[in-house]
Amino acid sequence: MTEEKITWEPAPCGHCEGYGCSYCSRTGTVEVKAPKTPCRHCEGVGCFYCGFTGWTHPKTKYD
Ligand SMILES: [Zn+2]
Ligand SMILES: [Zn+2]
Repeated sequence: MTEEKITWEPAPCGHCEGYGCSYCSRTGTVEVKAPKTPCRHCEGVGCFYCGFTGWTHPKTKYD
């Protein structure tokens, strides 16, 4: 069995810039895979690929 350890780190939500929205559970912060990397599709603005957080590999309830 391979056990992949993912390290998460907090990042400001790119959708609301920390104000709080439905994508960050109104916390203004999202957990993203470390080291946090701006989404290459939208450069941090937020798009379908990054779950509208602006970051690559945001943590979801399935992670
Ligand atoms: Zn947000
Ligand atoms: Zn994106």
